[in-house]
Amino acid sequence: MKAGTPLPTSPGNSMACHGYEAEGSKVNRPAGEMLTWKFVAPNVHDFVWAADPQYKHISKKVRDGLVLHAFYKISAEHLTKQYEALSAPAKSRYGNKAENFITAYQKEWDSVLVLASKAIPYMDKTFGYYPYKQYSFIQGGDGGMEYPMATLLKGAGEDVVIHEWMHSWYQMMMGTNESLYPWMDEGFTTFAEDRVKAFVHQSTGFIHAGSYGGYFALVKSGVEEPLSTHADHFDSRFGYSTSSYSKGAVFLEQLGYIIGADNRDKLLLEYYRKYRFKHPELNDFIRLAEGVSGIQLDWYPQFFVNSTKTIDYGIDSLWQENGKIKIRLRNAGKVPMPIDLMLTFKDGTKHLAYIPQYLMFGSKPVEDATVPRSLHEAWRWTHPNYVLEVEGKLNELKLIEIDPTRRMADVDRSNNKLELMW
Ligand SMILES: [Zn+2]
Repeated sequence: MKAGTPLPTSPGNSMACHGYEAEGSKVNRPAGEMLTWKFVAPNVHDFVWAADPQYKHISKKVRDGLVLHAFYKISAEHLTKQYEALSAPAKSRYGNKAENFITAYQKEWDSVLVLASKAIPYMDKTFGYYPYKQYSFIQGGDGGMEYPMATLLKGAGEDVVIHEWMHSWYQMMMGTNESLYPWMDEGFTTFAEDRVKAFVHQSTGFIHAGSYGGYFALVKSGVEEPLSTHADHFDSRFGYSTSSYSKGAVFLEQLGYIIGADNRDKLLLEYYRKYRFKHPELNDFIRLAEGVSGIQLDWYPQFFVNSTKTIDYGIDSLWQENGKIKIRLRNAGKVPMPIDLMLTFKDGTKHLAYIPQYLMFGSKPVEDATVPRSLHEAWRWTHPNYVLEVEGKLNELKLIEIDPTRRMADVDRSNNKLELMW
């Protein structure tokens, strides 16, 4: 759906000022006082329409067949009130001056299409080609709300701009039932938002730390409910939102740990290709993930979606036996997972011992070709302990760590790492 600008206030207004006609095309103005605009939107399941005589309208063609629009107004009086309502630390970020807040607010809106044009090549490539001819960032509503081809935003901060636009994939194109699978919209969108922001800033490191932190706080809070809970049936707002946004994002990043990050990324594109405009459900996604990775995954949502069971693996003990290093690992949690165990030796060399989880009936491909990897016998989910055998001398070992990438949502990482002080 397009967001409309107001009708001309006088018959003398040129229709070209509305900016919706194709460039260079001639607009025929009918006779009479009234004008009728007809909007057509293919493949949408919702719509939004906005109008305000004071909107400033900017647009930018960002690639063939895609024009972005922004509609906003800067009201000093309104923004001063918003500034006055800020907390003291928030005010200090603006040098305790309302005019700085207003300037920053305006700058965000003025540059929203620049940000959007930086992001779109990565979004197309990573999550599937944005197929509509336009997208509009419209000032309105509260916070940010997603619609097909548009969003209503209070401010144009980077987080909310990217988040709402990514909903074009995870809600608008997929059309998943958000009451039943709120985390497949908000969680997938949060995951994608982190990826897009990392691309825009070229940042490295663990870009989903915020989502993992949210999930761990949820576990500690004691109010966690399974992701499979209907969106309207959560007992608390915190339980709903942290499950949907944070745990939902963790679900996808952790899936990359299980099947391999490259497979997970292939899966996202395949999901787009096969299921956009089809209203997929969780099982569709899991079956597709199994097909892409060759790994059985029925157990993953059983534990991570349908229950609130948590993950906790730890290093139990290690010793030398028959010229080999033996390491006993312990599953102190309730969710079985595959294990990446990184060994770092005194000379700086690394070795990754990979233990698939039995229920996977398969193993992920090597993710980092620069580190040698040994594939070990699968860990049966019924067994609390596992003894691993690797080549090497114990007294040359410096560090062992379960999942150094931190993608496995282990709720107690204090027992994941062991530094040997020989
Ligand atoms: Zn959202």
